[in-house]
Amino acid sequence: MAHIVILGAGLGGLSMAFAMRKAARQDDRVTVVSDSAFFHFVPSNPWVAVNWRTRGDVSVELKPVLDKKGIGFDAAGAKRVHPERREIELADGKVLAYDFLVIATGPKLAFDEIEGLGPQANTASICHIDHAEQAARKWAEFVETPGPIVVGAVQGASCYGPAYEYAMIMDADLRRRKIRDRVAMTFVTAEPYVGHLGLGGVGDSKGMLESAMREHDIKWICNAKTTRIEADKIFVTECDDLGQERRRHELPFRFCMMLPAFKGVDAVAGIDKLTNARGFVFIDEFQRNPTYREIYAVGVCVAIAPQETTPVPTGVPKTGFMIESMVSATAENIRAVLDGREPSTRATWNAICLADFGDRGVAFVALPQIPPRNLNWSSEGKWVHVAKIGFEKYFMHRMRTGATEPAYERILLDLLGVKKLKG
Ligand code: FAD
Repeated sequence: MAHIVILGAGLGGLSMAFAMRKAARQDDRVTVVSDSAFFHFVPSNPWVAVNWRTRGDVSVELKPVLDKKGIGFDAAGAKRVHPERREIELADGKVLAYDFLVIATGPKLAFDEIEGLGPQANTASICHIDHAEQAARKWAEFVETPGPIVVGAVQGASCYGPAYEYAMIMDADLRRRKIRDRVAMTFVTAEPYVGHLGLGGVGDSKGMLESAMREHDIKWICNAKTTRIEADKIFVTECDDLGQERRRHELPFRFCMMLPAFKGVDAVAGIDKLTNARGFVFIDEFQRNPTYREIYAVGVCVAIAPQETTPVPTGVPKTGFMIESMVSATAENIRAVLDGREPSTRATWNAICLADFGDRGVAFVALPQIPPRNLNWSSEGKWVHVAKIGFEKYFMHRMRTGATEPAYERILLDLLGVKKLKG
């Protein structure tokens, strides 16, 4: 009998728990350790942050769902992983031993890297449900006395899609309220061009997103380094193609949301050979740490090298479809080791994303996510908005019922009308 512990119960960790329970032998124990009693569907946060969704709409209480599946659960959170002892020290002082550990702890939000950044300082955030709720309260005040908005992502960020989504969703909300004409909007991003997305673009993401920004009267500044943020002003250095200063901007705002750079969480950061300098977990092609071979990692917490050097640093996004492929591969590989075989399953790392713009949206398919690709496709229309709502409902239903089939994959394949993705 083996004890398989999954650390983190977000999109990667909860999918991992269901997939692992299905793949493990009957006598194996599967335990989830989270630092929260609830699962939150992060992709809905931009909607929460304009009061189109509530916390209850996008949360699932973990214990009842995991109990039903015969999966153990502890919400104490990990203080530190001790790989040489195969133990996790929990925040409440307990110690949990494991035979296999899957790290799925997502990002630590590096607000501290820029003066004035983050919900404890001068900008709103949509990265966590608590932040999105706080942003929603600010938003309710903002629409009473509107003014300029600055939205985007700072240097070193790896997650750009939600910044575009939130810009467009705010725009849609303001248009519905008929106050869009009172709000100047500027998109500030570390990306070298609009639609780069940390991926060198996907299909015609540059053309489509630039066109959408023009249509929605959103100005943009690319190659932007955010140097500091005051209560009502953001200081930005725009760089040239060589990363040298080209122009300085001081942009006043009444509402500002900038996505931060990510790091790995404290429980694993600084552990030699487990994590890199920013605390992300080293993995091989089978999602396994090369040194501590009983440790695997899935989701945002894994180390992926930037896909190209950009004038201002950008990282590679880790998106839901890609994360599910990591989850499926990890479950199969741990089962292989339990059966005395070598791991042999590789995650596809394909990306299929639906970016909602509040009443329409843009869809991207990148097979694989990191170029060069076998398939590079993007499209836009009202169907994306409708699809994203359906996707959220279906995903939440699956998380509430503990369905094991990868939700992203099933839903997106159904949407695209294909049985299986090649490439
Ligand atoms: P998370 O979902 O962040 O989960 C990590 C979990 O680990 C959390 O529950 C956290 O509380 C827990 N944890 C952290 N530290 C500890 C500890 N010490 N002990 C125990 N537990 C711990 N991707 C898409 O494909 N489509 C989208 O539409 C999309 N929208 C996004 C919108 C936003 C606002 C953001 C930020 C990202 C979005 N992504 C999207 C990217 C990605 O799919 C999400 O970030 C996803 O939530 C990542 O899953 P994860 O499991 O790696 O991390």
